[in-house]
Amino acid sequence: MLDEQCIFCKIIAGEIPSKKVYEDDWMCVFADVEPKAKVHLLAVPKSHFKLLSEATDDQMEIISYMLTKIPRIARENGCENGYRLIINQGEDAGQTVFHLHIHILGGEPLGDL
Ligand code: AMP
Repeated sequence: MLDEQCIFCKIIAGEIPSKKVYEDDWMCVFADVEPKAKVHLLAVPKSHFKLLSEATDDQMEIISYMLTKIPRIARENGCENGYRLIINQGEDAGQTVFHLHIHILGGEPLGDL
């Protein structure tokens, strides 16, 4: 389920270059182009949807699956001492890409929220 207008769908399809660090049938993880921390990765489900509130049961299962994969991916990409996960939801959160994604931030002390 890809959206032709979506930049993350284009990255998943390989139409836009990215620095991918992990990929399987359900998810893709690549470097954020504007890193907000020493390590800043984006974990993206291959299925296109915007918000957790809009996810189908199958898509929620993929999110759950992603959360089981992220600890190892984070550890193997420089976040041995911990990391922060952020899922921006909608306008007030500053969501700019409307394909659900999980920010993985780490590689250095992040400070308070
Ligand atoms: P959000 O504000 O939660 O929607 O986050 C969107 C993130 O996508 C931002 O941190 C952007 O820097 C990042 N981003 C936008 N375009 C690209 C791209 N082509 N490759 C990698 N990251 C991107």
